[in-house]
Amino acid sequence: TCSFCGSRTGPKGVAELGMRDWVCETCGTEHDRDLNASLNILRLGHEAPTGGSPVL
Ligand SMILES: [Zn+2]
Repeated sequence: TCSFCGSRTGPKGVAELGMRDWVCETCGTEHDRDLNASLNILRLGHEAPTGGSPVL
């Protein structure tokens, strides 16, 4: 899923698992696959395990 426009235009399927980056067909944004995945996770409101200590 494109982290910029939200379109599901990314590579999918076994044949495309090796793709490191892709270009969104909708908005033309170039994405690194892993970075885009991280951005999508952030958009969903999940914090990374390395989020740090809570402020007391
Ligand atoms: Zn897009």
